[in-house]
Amino acid sequence: MSVEPEYIGIEDSFTFTCHPGVTCFNQCCRDVNQFLYPYDILRLKNHLGMSSTEFLDTYTVTYSGDTTGLPIVSFKTSGVDGNACPFVTDQGCGVYDNRPASCRIFPLARAISRSRQTGAITEHFALIKDPVCSGFDEGRSIRVRDWVISQGLDEYNRANDRMIELISLKQQIMPGPLSGEQRDKFVLACYDVDRFRSLIKNDNLVSEGDIGKGRYHQIMASDFNLLDFGLEWIAMELFGKKSR
Ligand code: SF4
Ligand code: SF4
Repeated sequence: MSVEPEYIGIEDSFTFTCHPGVTCFNQCCRDVNQFLYPYDILRLKNHLGMSSTEFLDTYTVTYSGDTTGLPIVSFKTSGVDGNACPFVTDQGCGVYDNRPASCRIFPLARAISRSRQTGAITEHFALIKDPVCSGFDEGRSIRVRDWVISQGLDEYNRANDRMIELISLKQQIMPGPLSGEQRDKFVLACYDVDRFRSLIKNDNLVSEGDIGKGRYHQIMASDFNLLDFGLEWIAMELFGKKSR
């Protein structure tokens, strides 16, 4: 059953709590249906001490999105009903410190729009009152702005907004599905950062001469910088956008 979102302003408050004492504890994690952003993958694979390639193979499935034709990555689910997150435990989330943005923001959802005149981003929020969730029945009142901060969402949102912009660019330039080769490049640079790094280093996919020595070393030294570059590289390689 789909839940009608209730729109809510960033300064508005809602009442919610989630802890091991709620009657529905873990139910949401045993019935997941969410896609993962590139930054979610980066945080999770580092939490688990795995390469991005191992993480994608072990814990995720990839399919093509109906609307964008882009690859979408989501958890490989299991359990009694076949819908449980691979990281749910009887005690709660097994990857709590690095759980994905969609887990952090619940019971809210977030979308963004960008002004054509100024380029400024506006955030939009909605409250998702899922009937299985008893978290709304008790708890404290909290402002949307404070919820976002308390859940450590700022750095996720910064990274995820870049992905949203890449999807929007793709839809403007190339509506419809990608070719097999384009799809592979998209998955490589957005989701499989360790393989992307290896191809840059060993197969000269991108060279110091292409991007300058300083930037080259910057992206090779940090997953976050490499992902940031990967999104820019896809915008150039697939959608013809000039480098920043
Ligand atoms: S990552 Fe953690 S919070 Fe998110 S669905 Fe899985 S167990 Fe639940
Ligand atoms: S369904 Fe709601 S209250 Fe229950 S565990 Fe999930 S988020 Fe918490």
